[in-house]
Amino acid sequence: MSSQERPESDSGVLLNTALRNARHPEAYHGALSRALTAFQERSEAVAARDQVKLACGEGCALCCSLRVDVIAPEVFLIAEHLRRHFSAESMAALTERLEAHAAQVTRMTPFEHATRNMPCPLLEGSRCSVYAVRPHTCRRCHSTDLSACEHIHDHPEDLEFPGAHDPGLSRELGETMQAHFDAYHAEGLDLTVYELGSALSEALKSPAAWRRWRDGKRAFLGASITPTAGSDSD
Ligand code: SF4
Ligand code: SF4
Repeated sequence: MSSQERPESDSGVLLNTALRNARHPEAYHGALSRALTAFQERSEAVAARDQVKLACGEGCALCCSLRVDVIAPEVFLIAEHLRRHFSAESMAALTERLEAHAAQVTRMTPFEHATRNMPCPLLEGSRCSVYAVRPHTCRRCHSTDLSACEHIHDHPEDLEFPGAHDPGLSRELGETMQAHFDAYHAEGLDLTVYELGSALSEALKSPAAWRRWRDGKRAFLGASITPTAGSDSD
């Protein structure tokens, strides 16, 4: 069965089964990697089915200055990828960028952060240095009109600007992402929405963050949190 024919909630069900049986970090990372691949396939299948003409292309990175919301397992997957693939020199440079970013972001409210252009610390030139493991938020971001992204980039305080998202693609990706998050929720795991850079900085410094998350507690204690409906963001 192709990803176009597959019911969109399948990847959420598969993720939940994998999480229920996971005993080691590698199993959790593998489960999320597969879910992110399914998410990507769904995105491409819906865009092809609906003939959505996206303006997105390689090296286009204006959207990488937006605040990136993630859940903890996405941060742990990126941290593991960095440990495996980054040289000591690259890690040292990234750690410095992450710490500077976290120091700035944690002094702001999420609203203040969302109304400024702050390049993602994982951006190298105009490329994502963790493209293979980038989170749902980055995979979900798309535009049918580059000039809309330029407006958002040039006017970060204009949060009312609607952008140029394809409504069908946005809806289907939103539903698939929710199905994935529900899979974590069903296992009693932390679903706090964190800001990527500050959470990643903490993940790399504190092995206790992983243990807290695995035990169903809040993973990150110092990272910036994005309030969500019904969240406890104190
Ligand atoms: S969302 Fe906009 S800035 Fe981001 S890749 Fe697509 S066209 Fe480029
Ligand atoms: S993780 Fe990668 S794709 Fe996402 S904002 Fe950062 S650099 Fe861009």
